[in-house]
Amino acid sequence: MIYNVAQLMKSTVGTSLTADIQEEELQFNEEDLRLVGPANGHVRMRRINQGLLIDGWVDVSAEMTCTRCLKQFNQPLHVTFEEHFYPTMDVITGVPLPPSDEEDVFPIDDHHQVDLTEAVRQAILLAIPMVTLCKEDCAGLCARCGHDLNLGPCNCEPEVDTRLSALKSLLQNEQLS
Ligand SMILES: [Zn+2]
Ligand SMILES: [Zn+2]
Repeated sequence: MIYNVAQLMKSTVGTSLTADIQEEELQFNEEDLRLVGPANGHVRMRRINQGLLIDGWVDVSAEMTCTRCLKQFNQPLHVTFEEHFYPTMDVITGVPLPPSDEEDVFPIDDHHQVDLTEAVRQAILLAIPMVTLCKEDCAGLCARCGHDLNLGPCNCEPEVDTRLSALKSLLQNEQLS
């Protein structure tokens, strides 16, 4: 996801450029973020005063583990992003520029290229919910034998609330005395 923005950096503020995002495969050096299949989307780059405002979206499919039944499944995600990119070098003079004092900005490198990979990676991480379920009504695993309750009930005795049964025997004892 690398785009050359030399022309755009020479253009007047407000000029914009659009491009399709078409990645056969998107890989990140991160164990808990695995994507499956291609990533397709669209990006818009706009010349602003100090650099570029880049926004867009990408559709990906992420491999996830169900929070309840621990099964692996693929979750399609529609991810949007919007980031500022600042030049590290003046596009006309080639003079290195001081780093931006703004936080969370991405660099336009000294070949006048932007790489969207990190911005997209961060957007995907934000799009992944805290609780990931293989299906909304996933029955999960039996807490005692580990049986996948989506496949039907197991042979374990139904759970008895221990506090309730303690109360029950207490009441029974009182009736006896
Ligand atoms: Zn599940
Ligand atoms: Zn069980």
